[in-house]
Formats: sequence, C-alpha cells, structure tokens
Amino acid sequence: MKVIAPYFEILEDLDKQSLAVRIEGCGRICYKSEDKITEQSAEPFIRNIIKHGHNSVTEMAVLTLKVLYDSESLASQFFNLMPKFLQVDRVDKKELLITGSVRAFRELYQANPTVKMVKAIAQILGSRHPLFYEDLLPQRGLMKQEGVQVEKVPLETVDVFPADLLAKHRHVAVLFVVNRAITHEIVRHRPVSYLQESQRYCRYSQDKFGNEVTFIKPMFFNEGSEEYSLWEKSMQDTEKIYLKLLESSSPQAARTVLPNSCKTELITFANLLEWLHIFKLRTSKGAEPSMREVMIPLLKKFQEKYPLIFAGIKTGV
Ligand SMILES: Cc1cc2nc3c(=O)[nH]c(=O)nc-3n(C[C@H](O)[C@H](O)[C@H](O)COP(=O)(O)OP(=O)(O)OC[C@H]3O[C@@H](n4cnc5c(N)ncnc54)[C@H](O)[C@@H]3O)c2cc1C
Repeated sequence: MKVIAPYFEILEDLDKQSLAVRIEGCGRICYKSEDKITEQSAEPFIRNIIKHGHNSVTEMAVLTLKVLYDSESLASQFFNLMPKFLQVDRVDKKELLITGSVRAFRELYQANPTVKMVKAIAQILGSRHPLFYEDLLPQRGLMKQEGVQVEKVPLETVDVFPADLLAKHRHVAVLFVVNRAITHEIVRHRPVSYLQESQRYCRYSQDKFGNEVTFIKPMFFNEGSEEYSLWEKSMQDTEKIYLKLLESSSPQAARTVLPNSCKTELITFANLLEWLHIFKLRTSKGAEPSMREVMIPLLKKFQEKYPLIFAGIKTGV
C-alpha cells in the first residue's frame, strides 16, 4: 500500500486549451486513462461520452457569450424559459452576458429549438464548435437569426470584468487529491460541476496503480503513535482483502471494503462566487480539520489571484 499527503492543483493550464481538449483532460480522471490522451483522442472521446449520456463531462468547459438584440420581446422570450445552469446578466440596454457549460448550452437548444435567441446561440456555437452540436443540428447548420448578434467573449476579457461580473462569470477548476470522506463533503455543494476517479472502473491491482491501494495520510494521528499504527494496520488488512476479492470479483464489488481513507481525485469546477461560499464554509473553525488542511492553502492561492473577491475571508487560524 502507498500512503500520500493530500494536495490540490488549480487547473490553470486547461484554461488555455480548446474546449474539446479541456473536456477530455477532465473526463479521463474518472477512468484514470490520462495515458490514452493523444493529439487525436479528444473528438472520439467526446462523441463516446455524449453517446453514453455521461453528460457531466461536458460541464467541464464553459464559455461566455455577449448577446446583442434588437427587440425586448426577444429577451423576454428568452427569460420566460427560465434558463437553467446559465449565468445571465443584462449588462446594457439590449445586451446580455451569458456564461454556461457546453452541456448547459446543448440542453438549452434541445429543450427550446424554436426560440430565436436560443437558435442564434446554437447557430454560432454550432459553427465554431461543430463537435458539440453534430448530433443536434442539421448537417448544414442553422440559418443566421435576424435581430440577434452573438459573440464569444475571450477569457482574457472575462478576467478583467468588474468584480461583480468576474465573480459570476469566471469559472475555476481545482483538482483535489484527498480522501473519500473529504470528497463526499465537497460534493454537497450544488452549483458546481464535478468529476471523480471511479472505484467502479479503476482496478488498483493493475500496474498503472502500482498494484496497490493508495491511502491519504490522516492528519489526526502522528506517525509513530499508537493510533497511527492502528490506522496503518487497518489499511494494510483492508488492502489485502480488496486485492483478494479482485481475484474473483469486479472492482465495483471489491470496492465495498475500501475505507474513507482511500485516495481519490475530484475535479471541482465552479464560478468564483460559489468558491467564495465554499471557502467561507470549509475554512472556518467549524469545518473538518482535514478539509481545512487543503482548503486554507487553496484559499491563499485564490486570494493572490483574485484579491478583490477573496481578500475578506477570515479562516480563524
Ligand atoms: C461545518 C459543517 C458541518 C456540516 N454537517 C453536516 C451534517 O452533519 N450532515 C449533513 O447532511 N450535512 C452537513 N454539512 C453539509 C451542509 O449541510 C451543506 O450541505 C453543505 O455545506 C453545502 O452547503 P450549502 O447548501 O450552503 O451550499 P451549496 O450547495 O454550495 O449552495 C450554494 C448556494 O446555492 C443556493 N442553493 C443551492 N441549492 C439550493 C436549493 N436546493 N434550495 C435553495 N438554495 C439552494 C443557496 O443560496 C446556497 O447558498 C455540514 C457542512 C459544514 C460546513
């Protein structure tokens, strides 16, 4: 067995990648099949994901659109849909700012294919990102919609939005490598997209996992203490049973013996406003100590990058 310290990584490099590369990069965490990524692998991976309805993977890329329109009736028709999972702000007379994931924009069109503003959005996204619309739109694409103009807003522009818009429209992904108890708590936050290493698909007896189970070092027990030795023995015994079960059972069956201390990976993707809420709850003195162990240093990174939004949080340390 392997014992590692918990850690996190802000997935900033993915911000510079195409939507498809980003989605594949995140999606493969479920299967721990990152070794299969090649220059050509994103498209078939995404087609397969969509075909199998593993739609949360397509939440891992968001885009921001500026929508200009001629008549108020076009906007009210759009607002009457009560669009879900989209951040919509009226930033000027007859100008909307809309941020959503690939999934949110796809489902907006699937549910409302006749609404003019929705069609205008699908027309632009379908022409710029045909991979995400090939199963939804006619092969020749949609006609341009009169009276609505849709433009993609580059991330560099989002990054210099005033604080209130930045907080709502800028999304940041963080990879947590922590124990299963901590990810179980993190996923209680709802306006967030997640992808997690799957114990159903990952077979830890394989070479790529080192033929062993990885556990997260508990911050509660000092190495060398009696408690630590008890914990260690328990993990060793569990690993033995898990590996034995794998000789005759599937990973999803064998995993039933795995404990909270098991290492897992979780990508957490949310806008800055939700991160603010998460940090307030998860860095305070009332939060679980091993949650604070990763959230407090993560908050420091967010404070350096977005001081206007995160400077005011007191962690009670
Ligand atoms: C110290 C601590 C102890 C805890 N103990 C327990 C426990 O013993 N048992 C337990 O089950 N959980 C426990 N939790 C989890 C807690 O109950 C919440 O589920 C978790 O913190 C997510 O927080 P949230 O609901 O504010 O936020 P999020 O889901 O992050 O929501 C963010 C915002 O979205 C809005 N929102 C989202 N969904 C809805 C909705 N359906 N209706 C209305 N508004 C919504 C709200 O405005 C909310 O502020 C604990 C959490 C903490 C921090």
